[in-house]
Amino acid sequence: MSADHREQQPAQQGSRIDPHVGRYAHRAQGMVASEVRALFAVASRPEVVSLAGGMPNVSALPLDQFGDLVKDVVSQEGAAALQYGSAQGDPVLREQICDYMTLEGITAVPDDVIVTVGSQQALDLITRVFVDPGDIVLTEAPTYVTAINTFAAFQADTRHVSMDEHGVDPDELDRALTEAERQGQRVKFFYTVPNFQNPAGITMTAERRTRVMEVCQRHDVLVVEDNPYGLLRYDGEPEPTLYSQGNGNVIYLGSLSKTLSPGLRIGWALAPAPVRAKLVLAAESAMLSHSTFNQLVVRRYLSTFPWREQIKTFNAMYSERRDTMLTALSAMMPKGCTWTEPEGGFFVWATLPEGVDAKAMLPRAVTERVAYVPGTGFYADGRGRSSMRLSFCYPTPEQIREGVRRLVGAIEGELDLHATFGTTLPPSTQGSQTPAPDLP
Ligand code: PMP
Repeated sequence: MSADHREQQPAQQGSRIDPHVGRYAHRAQGMVASEVRALFAVASRPEVVSLAGGMPNVSALPLDQFGDLVKDVVSQEGAAALQYGSAQGDPVLREQICDYMTLEGITAVPDDVIVTVGSQQALDLITRVFVDPGDIVLTEAPTYVTAINTFAAFQADTRHVSMDEHGVDPDELDRALTEAERQGQRVKFFYTVPNFQNPAGITMTAERRTRVMEVCQRHDVLVVEDNPYGLLRYDGEPEPTLYSQGNGNVIYLGSLSKTLSPGLRIGWALAPAPVRAKLVLAAESAMLSHSTFNQLVVRRYLSTFPWREQIKTFNAMYSERRDTMLTALSAMMPKGCTWTEPEGGFFVWATLPEGVDAKAMLPRAVTERVAYVPGTGFYADGRGRSSMRLSFCYPTPEQIREGVRRLVGAIEGELDLHATFGTTLPPSTQGSQTPAPDLP
């Protein structure tokens, strides 16, 4: 037993002591449930408007037609659908994924695609294959919470690079890479969500994309481009993918979770051939083979269903919800609050006036019957206390308006407290490590 293991104290798991605490691998120490999880249990009550979760609104799918399609898979391809498959994924589905990616301007061959259990598994496999404990992973600030958790699970040193309304700051990225080189440390990859970022709702401009790729190529650093929201664009023109200007130095991740269903768990990675081969081997040891059944359902969906029209249906619904949220925020938010205006995706990132703590405010908000995700979950280093992620994908427009009204009530209550007692930001929390919330 190592010294570190001996030092581990029995840990509370919910209300029970965990008797296995001395047995866990070091990497499991970073796997902690969010301290706001209990509040989210309350937040899922029907009387609470949740602007917290990032759940796609799958009820916009014609479920009867989908049911017929599933029935056809069983009756016409049942024996194959119920059999083992491969870890790289069904070859016909990989061809269809290549067609799907042409909508993003990507030309790819099926051999370079690996199907994954959502793009989340691709993130896990990539980190498994590239990251040793202590290796640096660079990400935008803020970034996708479960990517932070994945990097932590592999004991990466996650460092952030600031963003503005045009996307990540290429000069700061350059400095972070130079600093790592000076310290003799290699950055294993730069992880980015360039379109309608989760959580900030920001899209990287074309000019920024070119500069980011120039910086990454100069420092010879791999880029992981995570693009689950790319086709959910409500205004403006699509930007070129980083993959298309990456000279083989970009791993591109896609997913059908937001444009079809997250329950089917179909995502993919498009990677240079040697990397793809490693990812397949890692996938084999993680899960042997994919769900053949789900892949055949999706294969049939993509070959028989008007899925491009379905994406337009989703976009019309989400765009109305996005507009409702932005209009409600403009009409009601108190002076000093700011927020992003996403051109697509699911999320708005709101920042409260100086000194007001969005995390400390959450119990008050839940009492007002509205929930959001405090900004701290989206940083690896405890920043983000004055910010919050608001999602508009799941609640109806009426619920969004009411949710914003209640949120404003909570913020005004906090501002009164602030006016009476000074900052609601506890000084000790600046820069501290905060367990991330566990929401998509
Ligand atoms: N990346 C980002 C940026 C996400 O927002 C999500 C889901 N919320 C994922 C990856 C994972 O999605 P999935 O595994 O369902 O494809």
